[in-house]
Amino acid sequence: MIQDSTPNSGAEAAAAAAAGGALPAGSTGKLEQGYARMEETVRARRPGEDFAALRRAFEFACEKHAKQRRDSGEPYMAHPLAVAQVLAEMQMDLVCLQTGLLHDTLEDTAATGEEIRRLFGEDVARCVNGVTKLSKINLHNREDRQAESVRKMLLAMVEDIRVIIVKLADRLHNLRTLESLSRERQERIAAETIELYAPIAHRLGMGKLRGELEDLGFEYLDPEAWRETRAEIESRRLASEHGLEEIRATVERKLAEEHIPARVYARIKRPWSVYQKLRKQRISIDQVYDLMGVRIITDSVKNCYAALGVIHNEWHPIPGRIKDFIAIPRPNLYQSLHTSVMGPSGASFEVQIRTEEMHRVAEEGIAAHWKYKEGRRGPAEDDQRIAWLRQLVEWQREMRDPSDFMSSLKVDLYPEEVYCFTPKGRVVVLPRDATPVDFAYSIHTDVGHTCTGAKVNGRMVPLKHALRNGDIVEILTQNGGQPSRDWLTFVKTARARNKIRHVINATEREKAIELGQKVLEREARRLGVALSRVSRQQMEAVAAEYGCGKIEDLQAALGWGKFSARQVLSKLAPSEVAPEEPAQEAPAAQERDRGGDGKDYVIQVKGLDDLLTYRAKCCNPIRGEPIVGYITRGKGVAVHSKNCPNVQNLLYEAERRIEVEWARGAGQSFNVRLVVHTDDRAGMLNQLTQILFNEDINIRSVEAHADEKNFDSAVVEMTIEVRDKKQLERIVSVMRRLSGVRDIERVH
Ligand code: MN
Repeated sequence: MIQDSTPNSGAEAAAAAAAGGALPAGSTGKLEQGYARMEETVRARRPGEDFAALRRAFEFACEKHAKQRRDSGEPYMAHPLAVAQVLAEMQMDLVCLQTGLLHDTLEDTAATGEEIRRLFGEDVARCVNGVTKLSKINLHNREDRQAESVRKMLLAMVEDIRVIIVKLADRLHNLRTLESLSRERQERIAAETIELYAPIAHRLGMGKLRGELEDLGFEYLDPEAWRETRAEIESRRLASEHGLEEIRATVERKLAEEHIPARVYARIKRPWSVYQKLRKQRISIDQVYDLMGVRIITDSVKNCYAALGVIHNEWHPIPGRIKDFIAIPRPNLYQSLHTSVMGPSGASFEVQIRTEEMHRVAEEGIAAHWKYKEGRRGPAEDDQRIAWLRQLVEWQREMRDPSDFMSSLKVDLYPEEVYCFTPKGRVVVLPRDATPVDFAYSIHTDVGHTCTGAKVNGRMVPLKHALRNGDIVEILTQNGGQPSRDWLTFVKTARARNKIRHVINATEREKAIELGQKVLEREARRLGVALSRVSRQQMEAVAAEYGCGKIEDLQAALGWGKFSARQVLSKLAPSEVAPEEPAQEAPAAQERDRGGDGKDYVIQVKGLDDLLTYRAKCCNPIRGEPIVGYITRGKGVAVHSKNCPNVQNLLYEAERRIEVEWARGAGQSFNVRLVVHTDDRAGMLNQLTQILFNEDINIRSVEAHADEKNFDSAVVEMTIEVRDKKQLERIVSVMRRLSGVRDIERVH
């Protein structure tokens, strides 16, 4: 669990309650004090907030957590309250503050999502639920080198960006109160913070929060390195403190002389970033150019560049250290001018120059945007939010590196991916709505092939079950298992699809070759051709004539019904078999289970006229409808309507798909079955049949009866003969216009 400030278990709490007095005396007073402070913080920056609603959330959470304590022994409620305090200092909105107060009630108390929704509204319920979902993911036994995937997964699970802001505030307070935990938990939480949460804060541009998370994490992750780094920074600071202040004052004076309005701060690099720099670049602390510096905050972009000129006029810039993040913002929207210069004592220092607005974005990142959009209510707020998201997506498009911040944010905003775990904690990234079969194939081809079932979060699910973020997926396999053709109808990854097809095609090809051999032998016997006298070379030559590289290819094609056996034999033994016998008289055709009405030659296969076709029963296409052919094994070409649902499933094998068209001329009619729903009144049937007589349409059968489900309606079922789609459409539209006709369906 990420949850680190887990309250004592229910049993312990109950025991404590039974022992009399759930909490030590005075704790309520402390909570009230804390609440008053938080409310004051909110009042100072957001005086228009609904304080009654804020108070309600506080009281609700107090009541729910009443009997719980933190590991430190203080009332549990101190934690959510402190989280709300962090959020208040970030000037977050009411939904955020309420979520902060309520964020642990769903997981740790008897409160329900429904209750929260009823009392605090949809937004708060969604956010509390979102924070709870994040807390439930088991992160600490995941495999290494997957931090990026896990970060993305966390973002992908967030429906509302406020969820992540609350989660980060939660994490910050957990870190601030780590001392009462065991060393092992401290390390785990610190590592998780440095690997997952601080980078997320960074991506969201929340520089201040990120800095605090990193430094607190560093302190617990590697206390020794932390102490050393701090000591080194401190010694340099003391050595140059006087110098740094002098530089700051000089900068301030020079800017004033040039009439550039500015606030100027001295700043020292944070321990974690110093440590990272020393470690990554293998340099000594004296080579860290930006260890110390000043930050200039001015009023306009123009003055940023003017200030840069003033600095370079006063001190010598270090080549290669000038960075213009105003012209080219960092992916997380950070903007500033950076330069390093040689100071008066020979020590370098860095100067950062930015506007107030840029400063706000640098410190608060996405939270700044969130605040900015506040203040408007109603639909306009939504519009603005959408505009803001669109802007993010546009920025994202301009990024060269697809792995950077915006693409993660996009996952968050438009979830196209789903992040799941193996039971061992490896993260598997799949497209949205991927299934356990996709998951199995992404683990290993053999796992995919032999997959027989799946458990998600410990429960058996169907193989076509859609996976969700954070699911733990266990695949059940069986030796000798085989992929099923059905899988092709639901898998979402190209990898799974290709692997399944490969196996199915290989198996089907074997069967087709076998069948092709039999068809050829049987036909040869019937026509008195001795196949044993046909040499391999002759066979190969004929195969080549059909465009087949190998004899097996020809056999497979025969098996699939692409060519007729008789034709092949006429080429193998021209003296014994006449080549041009009409296809429909071939014995293969007589054996075929045609299903149609025997008049199928109205359909032509493009480019090939000896191929046998039949109209598929499932959709019974009629002339004029778009059609598509599918080569069946040994039965010729099944012709389906292009939008027949069956054919969508069948046509996964591109090589068995074949173009067909309606042959010209022939005066053929097609049986069509119609079900007409009408008012239950006399004369209805008569009117319907009259329409058909007027159109000169044959009725093969007609039957009318009262509709059992609707007492005042009737159903007329009829089979009629139509010439083509046009004629059918015409009479259906005439029937529809008839008063009393409610609906007409064509059934197969
Ligand atoms: Mn918490």
